[in-house]
Amino acid sequence: MLTRPFAQVPAWRWRGSVRHDLAVVGGGIAGASLAYALARAGAKVLVLERETAFRDRVRGEQLHCWGVAEARLLGLHELLRAQGGHEVRLWSSRVGGLPSGSPRDLVDTTPHRLPALNFHHPEMQEVVLQAAEAAGAEVRRGVVVQGVTPGQRPLIRVRTPGGANEEFDTRLVVGADGRNSACRGWGGFQVHREPDRMIVAGALMHGYGAPTDRITSIMDPAGGRLSFSAPLSRGRCRSYFAWFDVAGSHGRRRLAGPRSLADFAAGSIAAGAPSEWFASAELIGPIASFPGADNWVPNPYRDGMALIGDAAASSDPSFGAGLSLALGDARSLRDRLLANEDWEVAAREYAAEHDGRYGAVRRITGWIRTLFLDPRPEAVALRARALPRIVADPSRRVDYVGLGPLAPSDDAARRRLFGEDEG
Ligand SMILES: Cc1cc2nc3c(=O)[nH]c(=O)nc-3n(C[C@H](O)[C@H](O)[C@H](O)COP(=O)(O)OP(=O)(O)OC[C@H]3O[C@@H](n4cnc5c(N)ncnc54)[C@H](O)[C@@H]3O)c2cc1C
Repeated sequence: MLTRPFAQVPAWRWRGSVRHDLAVVGGGIAGASLAYALARAGAKVLVLERETAFRDRVRGEQLHCWGVAEARLLGLHELLRAQGGHEVRLWSSRVGGLPSGSPRDLVDTTPHRLPALNFHHPEMQEVVLQAAEAAGAEVRRGVVVQGVTPGQRPLIRVRTPGGANEEFDTRLVVGADGRNSACRGWGGFQVHREPDRMIVAGALMHGYGAPTDRITSIMDPAGGRLSFSAPLSRGRCRSYFAWFDVAGSHGRRRLAGPRSLADFAAGSIAAGAPSEWFASAELIGPIASFPGADNWVPNPYRDGMALIGDAAASSDPSFGAGLSLALGDARSLRDRLLANEDWEVAAREYAAEHDGRYGAVRRITGWIRTLFLDPRPEAVALRARALPRIVADPSRRVDYVGLGPLAPSDDAARRRLFGEDEG
């Protein structure tokens, strides 16, 4: 039996019936989480995912504590923990120019009192998409969405694995098709892009020597580099190396393929990772690098189409916010759709909420990038003022790891971080 409000399709929207209340384009963490949460609430959900088996695309594998809290609100936390998740309680952070203290205990020091959660991305996608199907969503794999016609009753055109064309109409289309979203174009959304700054490379390794009981973040502001390692289950570790693209190569200088492991290691070591960490490291997945510049759609709802996850806003992977933002989008859209029978209003409310959440993350990560990763002279001058004050009073730092978008990000917070609140 359907629960309200899905049992009552508002008569003003259309006459007749639709097979699905909503159709989700893309079964990544954003789309699958939303499908899971809404199917559990009784909605008729269709998920269209082009991959028949998920592969390692070198994506996010470390979920911040505030993202774990979102997973909990979606009812996904236990599932992720039980099926391949690796909880990590400690966070070790080193910034060149600052004294390094003992690792932070995330459970003791974050408002949600939760550890971070790491997982291998393709395994996590499989777990969440299967959970959505088990909750009642209709999941079509190997299906490529080829177009969406927005409107009061949006229409989706797909190519099936057998090469046939099919169409679906629905009440709401949710574009969850990732950082190269085609839904953005089909919906006529305006896309904003920051200038390219960081290039982010990732490698999956076995036998990597970083401590397995903590996440390790090492930032080298003078060199504009960072090394980040997230231990996963079964002795695996996802390591990222990112560098500030001072020369403006816009991602043309790429790390790709197994032969680039030596460059990946050299860059990570230059950023501050001990060389012995690589002594027994074996590459067990692809190496790939990506331009890190944020790109986003302001107000990601219009004309029967909502965007979530990277399709709505792809944030600089250097700061590992994407998974948490994707879960936040799924939670927020689920809540709004369940609370309001008028989905036009509900989706507009979601879009406004999304802009607030993502805007805060963009502001905060922009400050962190300037202060801890930008090697250019203007940033050096800002650091000379800010770092001694942060050392004297660590509460000046913005608690991005613990609070994410809930951390204060107004002008007063910025001035405190940059030490501009003192004469
Ligand atoms: C190098 C790197 C490191 C990162 N590290 C972190 C990290 O440590 N922590 C973190 O939180 N985030 C990180 N991120 C970001 C994180 O990976 C993304 O934010 C997250 O995966 C977004 O999920 P999504 O569901 O929106 O998109 P995706 O995971 O891209 O899912 C989109 C899905 O849509 C499907 N699809 C696309 N087009 C179509 C179509 N036409 N028809 C049918 N299906 C389609 C795709 O097959 C895919 O399954 C990182 C990103 C990168 C690039």
